[in-house]
Amino acid sequence: MAAKIINGKALSDIVRARAAARAQALAETFRAPSLAVILVGDDPASRVYVNNKKKACAACGITSLEYLLPADTTQDEVLELIAKLNADAGVDGILCQLPLPAQIDKRAVINAILPDKDVDGFTPYNVGRMLSDEDGFLPCTPAGVIELLKFGGVEICGKHCVVIGRSRIVGKPAAVLMLRENATVTVCHSRTTDLASHPKTADIMIAAVGIPNFVTADMVKSGAAVIDVGIHRGADGRLCGDVDFAAVSEVAGAITPVPGGVGPMTIAMLMQNTVRAAEIHKK
Ligand code: NAD
Repeated sequence: MAAKIINGKALSDIVRARAAARAQALAETFRAPSLAVILVGDDPASRVYVNNKKKACAACGITSLEYLLPADTTQDEVLELIAKLNADAGVDGILCQLPLPAQIDKRAVINAILPDKDVDGFTPYNVGRMLSDEDGFLPCTPAGVIELLKFGGVEICGKHCVVIGRSRIVGKPAAVLMLRENATVTVCHSRTTDLASHPKTADIMIAAVGIPNFVTADMVKSGAAVIDVGIHRGADGRLCGDVDFAAVSEVAGAITPVPGGVGPMTIAMLMQNTVRAAEIHKK
């Protein structure tokens, strides 16, 4: 039986339309929300991501400010720019596109962003608030995963969720957010022994491994909901995820496609966070 497709594009359109309406209200009563995006170097994938964010901002009525810095920019120069943007009352959100060149310590850069402009939700302050169940900016990709599950009608409370991957930006926060939704959570990673045995027991699987087609049909419990965070471009130019979509969709109950699943939600959640930052700054 083919799985139900959880349509991330459709949900992202809804989230972006809501963000656009709030941005419009802000433009009428305060000013348009604004997002500063810093890109260091000329990594082609990063450039595509930054362009997509710029387009999304334009469509939502958010002013985007782009800072394209050469690959040999020093850490101090990036920190100086962040200090300037932190102090600028006209800037609501700041994000630094990852990865950064080797001479720049990404933790130092992220930690320098003011928590109330940290629309990526990566600073220790916002991570701490997430862990303490307090209000703050949630990281966009994991927050989008939760929205996708709810949109897909997947029951989370009391269910067993297996997250594959424990990165700071996806796996770990996804596990925390699933706990907040009262799931029972197992996190698998590169040192997990007998990895395949864990996903097989999952009602919900979140794959954030970074390896194309890593999750095969034999790893998935019949009827499970499968969220594929991975994104890879094959030699033929086509995108695929961490999940073998064709085979797994024969076993799963619900699944997100790549493209058109988690990716569009990440940008939509960024728009939502930026509008929220502007609403906070209005107060
Ligand atoms: P990462 O490389 O930082 O982390 C990968 C995680 O997978 C690590 O925690 C590692 O322990 C685990 N892992 C690696 N090999 C493994 C193995 N053989 N068995 C079990 N676990 C293993 O990657 P990331 O930043 O978390 O991203 C994961 C994927 O999600 C990538 O494909 C990335 O491109 C994609 N991504 C997509 C979006 C989006 O918006 N759709 C956003 C961020 C990341």
